[in-house]
Amino acid sequence: MLVVLLSREQSRFFVSHLGAVEEVYRVKGQRIRGMLTDRVPRDRRDALASQILKDEAKALASIAETIGREFETSYVLLCAPPDMGAAFRDHLSKAALARLASFEAGVHASAAEIGAAAAAAQEQLRVREEHELVGRLLEADPAAVSTGTQETLDCLREGRVLTLVADDSYATPGSHCRQCQSLFEATQVSTCPICRAADVEAIDDLVEAALEQAIDAKAHIEFIRDPACRSAFAGMGPLRALLRY
Ligand SMILES: [Zn+2]
Repeated sequence: MLVVLLSREQSRFFVSHLGAVEEVYRVKGQRIRGMLTDRVPRDRRDALASQILKDEAKALASIAETIGREFETSYVLLCAPPDMGAAFRDHLSKAALARLASFEAGVHASAAEIGAAAAAAQEQLRVREEHELVGRLLEADPAAVSTGTQETLDCLREGRVLTLVADDSYATPGSHCRQCQSLFEATQVSTCPICRAADVEAIDDLVEAALEQAIDAKAHIEFIRDPACRSAFAGMGPLRALLRY
């Protein structure tokens, strides 16, 4: 994730990877009010200060996008005064905005403090995305999603899975063909219905086997972990997929 801490005084950019947070860039603020001397008529001061704030926010948003691309971050966590934060958001791309959450931290906080504060916000964002994903599965065009666990396994075999969605909270038994690697929800399979081999083994964790196949196929993997999402997903579990075609 990319963590952005904006303030009048200075703005700081952090990148977090696997729990470690590192500051990668820092810019000094323009000290906006200080720049406006008495030569600026009183009635122009607010308009001028607000324009300068917008320009600065635009530059900061551009820095954030550049750092996000460089470090391939997938979330933006933002801590900023309300007016600066709003101006900053105005200049962020749609993709970045969709994965942005706010958090609170002191502008001089250490990387570790920032990491802890941002982790809670990231968790909220993750739960929000999980809800959106379950919503997508429920509302998607039937042709764009698999409609049951066995169909999901069939789509995996056919290389059609774009995103595999799994509830891995409990182990589901199933079967695996050692010849063609097909997976089956059924547990009593003696002959593989796909390749006709009699080399089918029982497995105790169908979800784990499906996840391995999804990784090999370079599909995305999303877990359902939030309790509310889990109950919404229960009728679809333990496996569903968003399909490539
Ligand atoms: Zn087979």
